[in-house]
Parts: sequence; structure tokens; C-alpha cells
Amino acid sequence: MTIDTADIASKTAPQKPLAVMLFGAPGSGKGTTGKMLTKLTGWPHLATGDLLREQIARKTPLGLEMQSILASGKLAPDDLVSRMVWDRLGWPDCENGFLLDGFPRTIPQAEGLAQWFQGRLFRPVLIHLWVEYNEILRRLTGRRTCPTCGAIYHLESSPSKVTGVCDNDGDELTIRADDQEEVVLQRLQTYQSQTWPVAETLRKHGVLVEAIECGEMDPESVADRIVWRLDRISGSIAKKKNKAE
Ligand code: ADP
Repeated sequence: MTIDTADIASKTAPQKPLAVMLFGAPGSGKGTTGKMLTKLTGWPHLATGDLLREQIARKTPLGLEMQSILASGKLAPDDLVSRMVWDRLGWPDCENGFLLDGFPRTIPQAEGLAQWFQGRLFRPVLIHLWVEYNEILRRLTGRRTCPTCGAIYHLESSPSKVTGVCDNDGDELTIRADDQEEVVLQRLQTYQSQTWPVAETLRKHGVLVEAIECGEMDPESVADRIVWRLDRISGSIAKKKNKAE
């Protein structure tokens, strides 16, 4: 009998924690998928859009500065968003793996992140959530969110039980300022010109890029598919979380 030592080594070698970047157009489901993945893996879900909106809600100096930029569908300045992310990645809850949602979104942010990974133990993986353009438009213009708990609904595909009211806390649902139709078009344009090239930049830096065709899939199936892919890359990520519990 022959023993495949390479195979044994790959199964017993300690795996690097995964740094997962959820990538895709606005409305591709990064936020919903990220929340589900957090439940499945225990990793923190770091969404730069949420972090910025939190600053706006708290009326911090940064938030006041960012309010009009977000409402216009343009991007926040690179140095500012990057600093916010480096700071958050230093928290101990990121040590066993993390999910980045909405970052990096420009080439300078991608270059900065590639540098951040250097000398650190993480295995970076970019998951590209691929959704067709008309489906993106439909999703974004029907989206409603709860300003209190962040829950996301859709008028057609996942309505709240009572129209206009959050199932979790009974608060009134709102349309995000940047989900108004003309702003949606601006965000899609920004995505195309500034964010699209990010995947290629990261690939050149050795980041593994995995695409998932998810226009027709419900969010649970997308999250399950991602876990399945990550399992293949790094052993059972869900099990690792159970052990830690
Ligand atoms: P979506 O992905 O649907 O556009 P997000 O909640 O991720 O929504 O982002 C909302 C807004 O926050 C963006 O339009 C942009 O103004 C700002 N933003 C989020 N992430 C970044 C980033 N990495 N760099 C610059 N601006 C950002």
C-alpha cells in the first residue's frame, strides 16, 4: 500500500485563517450574504458601508463629512476608509478569519490591502458575487432597510410581514438615500469604473478569486455555496467554529 504523504501533510498542516472579501456590484447581495456567513462561521462581518453609515447616524465629524458623499452615490476618500478598515482589522475578533464587505473598492484600497496582508498569516480569498445588470436594478430599487437593526427587505422577493415595518423591532423601514433611482445609476457607474478592476489587481497580488453566479439563487443557497467553496480551500470552516464554541 502506498501512502500519499503530501495528502496527509495537507490534511494535518494547520490552515491559515481565511480573509474573505465579498466583491460584487451594489445589490449583488454582499450585505445579506455577509450576515449569513457570520452566523455560519462566527467570523466578524466588516461592511465599510455599514461602518460609514454608523458614523453618520452618530453624527461624528467623520459622519457629517461623509453624509453628502454617500447620498450622492460616490465613494468616500481612500485614505479615510482604509484607515477605518486597518483599525478594525486589528481587533482580536479578526484573528481567526474575517469577512470584508465593500472593501477594497478602488485600486489604491486594493494595493493597500495587499500590503496589509504581507507578513500576516491570512489566506486572502475574493468571492465575486455575480448578478446580471437588470436583476441588480430590480433589487436596488425595491430595497427597504431598517435604520435601527440594519435588516434588509425587498418589496417583492422578501417583504416584511407588515408593509413598511421591520419584523425584528417594529420600526419604520426606510429607503436608503443612495437607493433612489438616479443615485443607483451613479453607484453602478462608480462600480464599473473604479471597483471592477480591483479583482484583477488582487489576483495579480496572489489573491485567490472565486466567482459565484448568484442571480437566480436565494441568499441561503448563495451562503451555503460560499461555505462549500471555502471548505474546499481551507478544511471545514463551520466545524472549526463549532469546536471553538
Ligand atoms: P453597496 O455595495 O450596495 O453600494 P454599501 O453599503 O457597501 O452599499 O456602500 C454604501 C456607500 O458607502 C457607497 O456608495 C460609498 O459611498 C460608501 N463606501 C462603502 N465602502 C466604501 C469603500 N471601500 N470606499 C469608498 N466608499 C465606500
